[in-house]
Amino acid sequence: MEPTPPPNRELPRRSVLKAGVAGGLAITGAAAAASATTAVAVADEAQAPELRRHFDVIVVGAGMAGVTATRELRAKGKRVLLLEARNRVGGRTWTDTWQGHQIERGGTWVDRLQPHVWRELNRYRLPIMADAGPTRAFMPTIGGFGEYDPAVAYVRQKELFTRFFDRATEIFPEPFKPLTRPDLVAQFDVFSLRDRLDQMALPLEDEILLTSWTSLYGGTSERGSLTLIQQWWALSGGTFEGFHGVNTYRPTLGTVSILNAMLAEAKPVLKLNTPVKAITQTTREVKVTTQAGEVFTAPEVIVAVPVNVWRTISFSPALPAAHREATTTGVGVPHEKKLWIDLSTPTDRFVAEAPEGMGYPLCFMGRFNDGQPVVAFSVDSTFDTTDGAAVERAVQKVIPGAKMRDYIATNWHVDPFSLGAGAYRQPNQLLRLHEKLQAPHGRVKFAGADIANGWNGYIDGAIEDGLRVAGSPTLSGPAAAAASAEERIVVPKVNRALYRGLGIR
Ligand SMILES: Cc1cc2nc3c(=O)[nH]c(=O)nc-3n(C[C@H](O)[C@H](O)[C@H](O)COP(=O)(O)OP(=O)(O)OC[C@H]3O[C@@H](n4cnc5c(N)ncnc54)[C@H](O)[C@@H]3O)c2cc1C
Repeated sequence: MEPTPPPNRELPRRSVLKAGVAGGLAITGAAAAASATTAVAVADEAQAPELRRHFDVIVVGAGMAGVTATRELRAKGKRVLLLEARNRVGGRTWTDTWQGHQIERGGTWVDRLQPHVWRELNRYRLPIMADAGPTRAFMPTIGGFGEYDPAVAYVRQKELFTRFFDRATEIFPEPFKPLTRPDLVAQFDVFSLRDRLDQMALPLEDEILLTSWTSLYGGTSERGSLTLIQQWWALSGGTFEGFHGVNTYRPTLGTVSILNAMLAEAKPVLKLNTPVKAITQTTREVKVTTQAGEVFTAPEVIVAVPVNVWRTISFSPALPAAHREATTTGVGVPHEKKLWIDLSTPTDRFVAEAPEGMGYPLCFMGRFNDGQPVVAFSVDSTFDTTDGAAVERAVQKVIPGAKMRDYIATNWHVDPFSLGAGAYRQPNQLLRLHEKLQAPHGRVKFAGADIANGWNGYIDGAIEDGLRVAGSPTLSGPAAAAASAEERIVVPKVNRALYRGLGIR
């Protein structure tokens, strides 16, 4: 598609097209990074000095939200500068290669219940694959781990999850609009996930079947709010199959394929390796200063970096109180590490879930496709992933006899450009902060999965929020249902056998 010529600007056409090569050539994450850098340099040379520095909009952060906003603004004819701190686009999604396997070091799964990302997959005809799913389940019991047929293991989990979420669809009747029932949200937003577990007063053998999930989402069950997971349950149609099933499909060419497709269409000026240090507003414009001391200006700036990172950027005038509170207390799951592990034993497909507070550094682990490495998650702040022996011991705590050959770990909490993993609100944050965080601060607007209305903390939420901040319509109600029903791509069959035991107990 031809880029829309920017209105009232003398930008030489050649430079716009050269800048566009960044997206057009992008095929893999690495290729995207290399070609984007080269193309931007060419564009800079071709532009008059004042045009190189002044844009209609500057977007800070080339994750899913920033790239979506950029695409939308380019379609409206805006000259957009997209500034990205890292040497790659994608942020908390990161398609990489390890031991010859394509791996995702951050966000991975997408689903038709997530209409914004589903619509992008259809729009660009991006292939998806369905994980084959586990054939064995290692689930916690009071006396250690037991091995089950996953269908049997999930029967009990379904009962427990369904009770856990009993009023979710009432609190979130329109789940893409989280404050439709502020009266009910006010009652429930005070609770943590731990509060709900305590209120249910489950026997220990049942509670430990839930806490690998509540700790993974909240960082700890004490830290995470009840209302966010209730909202996800409502977004999943209020069923266990929906909630569990959103972790089934993934883009075959990696999450980066979504970004590459958007960038190829948008053809923005993209500068990688350009961390932003300061954002200063005057009455007429916004000045963006990079760590390297470059200065760019625009009448409007979109900050699409994680909420936890806001505190590392100097804003003048200072951020409003709600933004300061959010970035200080944090929303991204702290201490989350995602590992890919090469196990020589076991080699088959499995899932393992470990309870919270019982000394298991890995809370979730599984091999979901034959021949692929094992993926594992940890939210344990004391777990040192640089210590290979500790990693192998952590695996063996769940699967005695497991043998590790190699592993790779990503610690999102220490990464200065994320300072946490996927977003997860804390108690009271929905009611107290959510609407305020979406409000502009003068000429500066904020975007990201961390402040999204619907799938907050997911890829879908990032795309939704990129649309919102760019003034494009977001999806909810019948429009969301219509987008979810779209199938211009081939949707692979899902292994329903996993759930065959459900409902017969
Ligand atoms: C381990 C893990 C697993 C996950 N699993 C899933 C999943 O399976 N499915 C799902 O839907 N979601 C998942 N998520 C969540 C999902 O990846 C995120 O919610 C989403 O990608 C966030 O997008 P974003 O654009 O809002 O923010 P980000 O992706 O964080 O993008 C922000 C961008 O801003 C850049 N930036 C930061 N600081 C600066 C600065 N000073 N100057 C310039 N640029 C800066 C960053 O480098 C980054 O590129 C997971 C996340 C993690 C970490």
